[in-house]
Amino acid sequence: MRRQGLEMEEHIMQELRERIRDAELVLVGLGEDFEYDWNALTSDGRYREIAAETGAGPEYVWITPFLQKMVLQRGERDAKWSGAYASLEKLLAGKNYFIVSLCVDDYIYDTGLEQSRIVTPCGGFRQMQCDMNCSDVLSEVPSDTCLEVAKYYNGELPVSALREPVCPLCGGKLRFNQLGVTRYAEKGYLAQWERYTKWLQGTVNKRLCVLELGVGMEYPTVIRFPFEKIVFYNQKAFLCRVHETLYQVGDSVGERSVGIAEEPVAWLRDMCL
Ligand SMILES: [Zn+2]
Repeated sequence: MRRQGLEMEEHIMQELRERIRDAELVLVGLGEDFEYDWNALTSDGRYREIAAETGAGPEYVWITPFLQKMVLQRGERDAKWSGAYASLEKLLAGKNYFIVSLCVDDYIYDTGLEQSRIVTPCGGFRQMQCDMNCSDVLSEVPSDTCLEVAKYYNGELPVSALREPVCPLCGGKLRFNQLGVTRYAEKGYLAQWERYTKWLQGTVNKRLCVLELGVGMEYPTVIRFPFEKIVFYNQKAFLCRVHETLYQVGDSVGERSVGIAEEPVAWLRDMCL
């Protein structure tokens, strides 16, 4: 089923709000299209200056993720994403839910959503790891580096004064624990993943509403394929898939699903305006 026209859209939203309300459990998947748009940072003049300066040499590449973390933590949040997460909070209030998110922006951890009900298998900015994962140890984000980067941003330190943090064990690069490092330390999310799989076991034969937003084909085995399978096996489950182009749902769950061709962040924001 694909939405047609505005009236239909409101009708579907209403139906989904009711489905979530009536569900015993709600499973949410946020995909790669839900990731914060880092390009938005270039609207900040100082950020543009820094991008030009740090782009001059590979020795400065490490600064960018620290800046990203800093900017998101300063609370200058994008109204579109904040609105979408506020909608999600409203939809899930009082519900037994679990959220799997492919985003690394950590936006979700600054909302009222319960951390114990969230897993982010691609990592984020909350912990550091050795780029080579030499000893499978995660460490805290070094506060002195954050402070130096903030000073640099404020023009109080030159770029040459910044020191890249290093792994205390092998002297290699210390990086944020997220996909993209040379050897990703999965340890950062495994405990939460275990909690998620246990939660899933409890959905069998229950009225489950599955909301999948912006999940494409980058990592389909994490959310997209397993979600369809869960709905296929649970006759009381319903799947709502929102994606600009890949909104289609397989025939196997066709009757118990809806595919909505919309940009997922704005769509979710509009769910609870
Ligand atoms: Zn190391």
